Amino acid sequence: MLRLEHVSAAYGRIRALTDLSLEVPDGKIVALLGANGAGKSSTLKVVTGLLRPTAGAVTFDGHDLTRRPAEAIVPLGISMAPEGRQVFTQLTVAENLRMGAYSRRDAAGVRRDLEWVLSLFPRLRERYGQEAGTLSGGEQQMLAIGRALMARPRLLLLDEPSLGLAPLVVREIFATIRQVNAEGMSVLLVEQNANLALQVAHHAYILETGRLVLSGPAGELRQNPDVKRAYLGG
Ligand code: ATP
Repeated sequence: MLRLEHVSAAYGRIRALTDLSLEVPDGKIVALLGANGAGKSSTLKVVTGLLRPTAGAVTFDGHDLTRRPAEAIVPLGISMAPEGRQVFTQLTVAENLRMGAYSRRDAAGVRRDLEWVLSLFPRLRERYGQEAGTLSGGEQQMLAIGRALMARPRLLLLDEPSLGLAPLVVREIFATIRQVNAEGMSVLLVEQNANLALQVAHHAYILETGRLVLSGPAGELRQNPDVKRAYLGG
């Protein structure tokens, strides 16, 4: 389980997170919602070791993440599909996927997971030898998620997987998120599309200017009048 306790973080003098506590229990999908600049990406950076908290604790299965370098996070079982895709554009789909498994030594397991990822995203199988830079936006997002899955994480971090994509592609990607969760993977999902996120998540947290303003079961938040007005379009 991932746990943040009273975490604060800043970029120089700019405060990004203030006294944030949250949990991602094993086997759950947890959504992190909020407007631009609310601190969602910063929360993910705190988990992946790219931003050091100025206060508070971040633990995963009891391991303290705050003192670990970023490259020591993946072997613990956490991997991330970053915002804006950020695939290796000059490499093929196949090479990108293999990069996701860089820290693994179990060749047979990697082969099995490659087959698993290609079955989750048949589109990637069709484009297997193609340079990632020539993929559509939706295909690049699938590749970014597929690459993260190749690490076989126990916790998958997703930064805005719906950003800039057509509704049909978004539906496909969210169906896959549900499926990997049904197979036991925990997910921390950062989304600006609250409607979508509250449909797939078990639990959600809402941030405003780096502070937690509301949290609860996704079903409850969907019915909450304040949430409806501010995040679900009335
Ligand atoms: P978005 O959806 O726009 O990505 P977000 O909720 O992910 O927003 P963060 O990116 O975490 O928000 O930003 C939180 C705050 O930290 C914002 O005020 C932002 O301007 C600031 N911030 C983020 N990255 C940096 C940085 N590299 N340097 C300085 N300030 C930053």
